[in-house]
Amino acid sequence: MTTNRTVQTAADAALWLAVHRGWHVLPLNYGTKTPLRGCADCRAENTDHTPQTCPCLARGDGALCHGVWAATTDASVISRWAQRWHTSVWAVHLGASGLLAVDLDTRPGPPPRHPLNGLPWPADEPPPVDGLDTYATLAALSGGTVGDTFTTDTPSGGLHLVHEAEPGRWKGSHGKVRDGDDTVRTGLGWQIDIKAYGGYVVLPGSTSKAGLYRRSSTTTTPLWRPDWLADALARTGHDRTATPAKATSAPAPVATGGRSGPRRYAVGALRSACTELAVMEPNSGRNRKLFRSTTRLAGMVAAGWIDRTEVETALAAAAGHAGLPAGEIRYALTSGFNRPLPVPDIRSAA
Ligand SMILES: [Zn+2]
Ligand SMILES: [Zn+2]
Repeated sequence: MTTNRTVQTAADAALWLAVHRGWHVLPLNYGTKTPLRGCADCRAENTDHTPQTCPCLARGDGALCHGVWAATTDASVISRWAQRWHTSVWAVHLGASGLLAVDLDTRPGPPPRHPLNGLPWPADEPPPVDGLDTYATLAALSGGTVGDTFTTDTPSGGLHLVHEAEPGRWKGSHGKVRDGDDTVRTGLGWQIDIKAYGGYVVLPGSTSKAGLYRRSSTTTTPLWRPDWLADALARTGHDRTATPAKATSAPAPVATGGRSGPRRYAVGALRSACTELAVMEPNSGRNRKLFRSTTRLAGMVAAGWIDRTEVETALAAAAGHAGLPAGEIRYALTSGFNRPLPVPDIRSAA
């Protein structure tokens, strides 16, 4: 429940972050944690202006039109909102504030068989128990750490990790499992949500129906987003500025070797995998491409069509040419060889 004290605490925290950190903050409805309603004109379906061209927001006097886009750093507006709306739930509009939040959940339920989007779960790791676990494993696989950044504990036991990031570059997502194959296909991973452009998170100091949001980091300064996180976000389609990889060609050092059918097929498959991989740009899915190519070729190695060392050497060289770090190459090769795909039937194709 809200008391004058919880209302004051939440508003004070929001005001402090607006003034000292330049965060764009806004009050939310206590029950639904959604933005307050704007004017009837801006809510109308045929409103033909954007938040950026809205006459109400342009006045700068605290109109609450267009949801999160009403957020402000203006201390006098924030104080007026606090008196007028008397809510104990405040939020930061992440995109407008040059921030990105990793929202880690602790909902009960069994993890999917493949908790990470596009990356194999390490064979020697137990399945994750929650989003914190999924994210820590993703960080470790990526050669990084979660980092000591501005962090909020949520009433349900989850975490919001807030990072500074390129304004406008990143889009939000939910880590969703695709029906039928028990595999996370969107977002970063199981119970990991990304909040960024157009997104918001509740601020510490707020009390919702579910309870208190508490800052759990000692620091009140968000850390710049780690490079490994940017790579993981780009790999999984979160980069709003991404351009498709160029289709230029680069030589790949693959010997043709013998002439028998399966051998020739495997060498061809290896060569085209290397040619594609070698010219992939950062943030275009190199890691996943390497892993997938490895699983295909691992099957051919298992069938005796081609030598494992030959496959590993060529794929590692191509991935290195594309700039993939050595640790990631080793990991993708090892996990790929642990999951060989069945060889194709090449008799009909001959
Ligand atoms: Zn309006
Ligand atoms: Zn408007």
